[in-house]
Amino acid sequence: AQVTRFAPSPTGWLHIGGIFTASVNFDLARHSGGRYLLRIEDTDQARFSEGALAQFEAGFEYFGIAADESDAVGGAYGPYTQSARAAIYHTYVRELLRQGKAYPCFETTEQAEARVERQKAVGALPGYYGDWAIWRDAPEDQVRARLAAGDPYVVRFRSPGIGGARVSFTDEIRGELSADDNRNDVVILKRSDAELRLPTYHFAHAVDDHLMGITLVVRGEEWISSVPLHLQLFDALGFPRIPYAHVAPLMKQDGGSRRKLSKRKDPEASVGYYLEQGFPAEAVLYYLRGLANGRLAEMPLPQALAEPLRLAEFGVAGPLLDMVKLDDVSADYVATLPSPVILERLLPWLAEYDKDLAAVVTAERDLALRALDVERVDTEKPRKDLRKWADFRTVYGFFFPEVYELVTDPADERFNGLAVDKVRAMASGFAAAYVEPGPDVEWFDQIRNLAGELGFALRQKDYKKNPEAFPGSIADAAAVIRVLVTGSRQSPDLAQTCAALGRAEVLRRVTALG
Ligand code: GLU
Repeated sequence: AQVTRFAPSPTGWLHIGGIFTASVNFDLARHSGGRYLLRIEDTDQARFSEGALAQFEAGFEYFGIAADESDAVGGAYGPYTQSARAAIYHTYVRELLRQGKAYPCFETTEQAEARVERQKAVGALPGYYGDWAIWRDAPEDQVRARLAAGDPYVVRFRSPGIGGARVSFTDEIRGELSADDNRNDVVILKRSDAELRLPTYHFAHAVDDHLMGITLVVRGEEWISSVPLHLQLFDALGFPRIPYAHVAPLMKQDGGSRRKLSKRKDPEASVGYYLEQGFPAEAVLYYLRGLANGRLAEMPLPQALAEPLRLAEFGVAGPLLDMVKLDDVSADYVATLPSPVILERLLPWLAEYDKDLAAVVTAERDLALRALDVERVDTEKPRKDLRKWADFRTVYGFFFPEVYELVTDPADERFNGLAVDKVRAMASGFAAAYVEPGPDVEWFDQIRNLAGELGFALRQKDYKKNPEAFPGSIADAAAVIRVLVTGSRQSPDLAQTCAALGRAEVLRRVTALG
């Protein structure tokens, strides 16, 4: 059984890559009969964003990633928010101080800046190491005097690392890896005059992963370079090491080159985007899984989502997040859902992001179902016009009388310049003899016959040969009805649409011309 965790810092919406990493952790725990923990890493209070926690919650709920342990659901190893664990960290900091594996450092911010300047000037790497680490072996009486005077200090970890060395370790995704050894005496406890005296991420996460019984750490690739430091900390604290897996970052095509998908530059990098657009969660997870492991992309969605993940099969190179591809994957998925299921998924989304339409659709449930059925039932090739719930207003809005704007101007540009009297004649003729679609009705005949009576060319060929001889072609005649009924020259099957709307509404629309 694996005990895994996802440990986001509350700095705003999660990166969509974070949802993927969280879902991987969730799945590994679930499939092994283990536990999945959610830990909030808020030791960097300066970067704390109000509302981030609510956004996390919304994101995890949307994607169905439910923690077995967290501050919200409880658990034996809480609290699960680092700022509430200061006393726990202090115990371990004191222990390292006692053992001489950490020491107080009284370097002020100004002194630190001056040190970095000098390091730059002589071409040394910035950091607290070697001869630059003046408090590392400061005489004891000097340290005591500073402590007695109440001078503020940070606690630094006494790194056993050697400059220039490489450290090897195993990664569950990448196999054998190596990274530059850490020789920096990193800060593990922040300034002593700060109220909370919080540790840094590096220290806090080591203590937490150990105490919370984590058996596998799956996280973003950006942490690979920190592994040597993390291993040093685990060793110094006397904790057994924990296996790591580092997930490749999602990439974005930017002109001729690829770069990391960035929350600052790319709206689709933010989890909020997927919620606001209403991408079905399964479609997004399915697409992301397929990006990480090509084998899963070959499987149908339900199978790929049920399949236990094998980290060793994950790609090492960052895959491209292609929103056009995601649209396709998502549209394909929605096309497999029965209309009542679509409605059930759509309504909560509308209630959150399009309240007006939510009220309309709720009041006209049956119409909504009939609309969704158009070109979706009894067909080999269902419409793929819904990729995400935000498409519903654009694609299906016209079905609802409250949303639909009647076409009243016979010179409306959607009639493509057809003579105004012909527009009127098509509309009134159609309304006067309107036949509802039905099993034995050649529905389109009423449009064809009427068009013929009004002198439209019934064959496109004839019209092309001699356009001057006709007011327009049969397509132009039909478009009059289509525009009046749907508001657009492009619409789903007109007979099915009219059937869904019902006689009264069709007549209301075709008689609206002024
Ligand atoms: N708090 C870190 C982050 O936001 C987590 C790193 C880890 O998983 O160890 O990226």
